[in-house]
Amino acid sequence: MLLVLTHDVDWSRKGPATEHVLARLNRFSIEDRYRFFTLRENIYDGIATIMDYEQRQGIKSTFFFRTFYDDYTTVELYSDIISELRRGGWEIGLHSNSGENLESIRQEKILLEKIYSQEVKSLRVHYLKIDANLIPKLSAIGIKYDSSICKAKTGPSHESTGCHILDGVMELPITIMDAYMFTYWGVKPSEVYQKIIEILDNFNRQGIKIATLLWHTNSVRMHDGKEYLRLVEEIWKIEWLTPIRVIDTPISLCKKEKLI
Ligand SMILES: [Zn+2]
Repeated sequence: MLLVLTHDVDWSRKGPATEHVLARLNRFSIEDRYRFFTLRENIYDGIATIMDYEQRQGIKSTFFFRTFYDDYTTVELYSDIISELRRGGWEIGLHSNSGENLESIRQEKILLEKIYSQEVKSLRVHYLKIDANLIPKLSAIGIKYDSSICKAKTGPSHESTGCHILDGVMELPITIMDAYMFTYWGVKPSEVYQKIIEILDNFNRQGIKIATLLWHTNSVRMHDGKEYLRLVEEIWKIEWLTPIRVIDTPISLCKKEKLI
């Protein structure tokens, strides 16, 4: 089974407002709380931690960046990180603010490509708010992969596995998402890692060849979100699982059928 590893960068380089972090401080380790208070470090930024862990295991994933953030800063603040990711072989995808307007997505794609210095081929719409009718049209603006669909809100779903070809655009539905696991699925922090393996093992036994994992960059420094790092450390011990980036997904494994 191929596991497509993806990360959404929902927050700006500066991170959320102080009050937002303070209200969620109990989710972080003592060290990170200290860093927040003394250094004013943005403890919502888990990109370097993810890179560090993935690099050590020789794994590369896809990072979806927004171009405009809620604090009115832009992706330009992430320029150095994006260059580092590109040089290291990670993929940069667009986490667009719009999921309804092809022209807006195209504009955001151009902005991100200026910083990435490479073509952006993968898309995930912020909040997954995509107009499904738009997916087949994405090829017209050079988007070849989309991962904005998730039909696993209440629990793991067969529908949210594999990949589908829609008029030349590959759709990779999100099989497992950190936020859904913690909230809707009610998985306890101590059971997150085991649960991920259990779900993937089940799908693997059912003959599913591709699963997509979304782990937000802002969650890896939180208690439950840290479990992603454990997955990365253990991944090569699971002999039936191979981690890949979005663009590595082989088209031969995709179904040519209507998803919606
Ligand atoms: Zn998002």
